[in-house]
Amino acid sequence: MTQDADAIVVGAGVIGLGIAWQAARRGLRVAVVDGHPGEGASWAAAGMLAPVTEAHFGEQALLRLNVAAAGAYPAFIQELEAATGMECGYRRSGTLAVGLDGDDLRVLDDLVRYQRSLGLDAEPLSGRECRSLEPMLAPGVRGGIHVASDHQVDNRKLVRALRAAAGRHAAIHLTGASRVLVSAGRVRGVQMEDGAALTAPWVVVAAGCRSAALDGIPEPLRPPVRPVKGQILRLRVPAAAPLLTRTLRWLAHGSVGYLVPRSDGELVLGATAEERGDDTEVTAGAVHDLLRDAHHLVPGVSEAVLAECRAGLRPGSPDNAPILGETELPGLVMATGHHRNGILLTPITATGIAALLAGDGVDPRLTPFSPLRFSRAVSAV
Ligand SMILES: Cc1cc2nc3c(=O)[nH]c(=O)nc-3n(C[C@H](O)[C@H](O)[C@H](O)COP(=O)(O)OP(=O)(O)OC[C@H]3O[C@@H](n4cnc5c(N)ncnc54)[C@H](O)[C@@H]3O)c2cc1C
Repeated sequence: MTQDADAIVVGAGVIGLGIAWQAARRGLRVAVVDGHPGEGASWAAAGMLAPVTEAHFGEQALLRLNVAAAGAYPAFIQELEAATGMECGYRRSGTLAVGLDGDDLRVLDDLVRYQRSLGLDAEPLSGRECRSLEPMLAPGVRGGIHVASDHQVDNRKLVRALRAAAGRHAAIHLTGASRVLVSAGRVRGVQMEDGAALTAPWVVVAAGCRSAALDGIPEPLRPPVRPVKGQILRLRVPAAAPLLTRTLRWLAHGSVGYLVPRSDGELVLGATAEERGDDTEVTAGAVHDLLRDAHHLVPGVSEAVLAECRAGLRPGSPDNAPILGETELPGLVMATGHHRNGILLTPITATGIAALLAGDGVDPRLTPFSPLRFSRAVSAV
């Protein structure tokens, strides 16, 4: 029987677009379905590529994946920029994580010890040393950690470039998928919201925080993905007079935040992490708290233009790690649950899932993140 495509990718955020581009590069006929391509978490994000300053106790497997993903970034961006002629704002400018009070510093001390015990590159600094790196920092900053290897990308430029790259080789259908079509024990394609059906032997679910909502996926195989709300602001300063030269992260009297400076003067200020289901309202309280903390750390932000307030929904998973690879239903592949690191994890996910679709097997770095870790747990109950 003739198939419409070799693979259908449901969802056109950075993950789905990255997979579509890489799979098409390998010669597969790829179809992407999404009624709102690029408008999900990938558009809202800050674009930090920060495996080291994002390191959390007890998440060593994820940390290894994040470090590998950061290592894959330069070549991925180089290839994407060459393929599209579009610049992605990848900056190797480093990250400074700082603390305001004694408790904040104790947490940072624990973090730097943990980072160093894992062989990661993290340099503890005094308050004075932090200010010599970033002179606009408030005098109240007591100390910090400098991580030269935590970089950034302009996630919106990345979305545009991936869409251009994928769109050159793959068919992008501007409608959502309503159902995964299954018969005789395997995936056959998807039914789209406009009623049409598309057939393919592979369906990749890359629908971000909505990945669990697709009809047709057998209940035990549904990815346990939930939306984690992040409110985030975009400020603007003159490009010739930036407030910061590198990403600044902080612990300010226990509350966390970051400022990510772009070379064009944009300054991304984030972000909340809230369990509020599908809610994407921006609240006055969150905007107030983000601006208050940013002002404590870098008083000059009060002069910046407030250009945008937005909320995005991270695709959270129960263990904060992505869900990547084949399910127990032949032909059904998951590429979701990237939570707070989906921009960082785009290259390794895209190349790994494309290799799987092309018949080259599973990238061993993705094995710990198989969907089977959840479906087997369900069937054992
Ligand atoms: C405030 C905030 C800050 C963040 N900062 C960072 C950061 O600094 N660094 C980092 O690495 N990560 C960051 N993240 C996380 C990152 O944005 C996500 O992990 C990543 O964007 C997930 O990409 P995705 O393609 O899976 O999802 P999305 O970008 O959400 O894309 C999913 C797509 O699926 C589509 N879709 C949904 N349902 C269907 C359907 N039924 N049929 C077809 N299509 C469908 C949607 O329209 C959407 O386009 C941040 C996230 C937020 C919210």
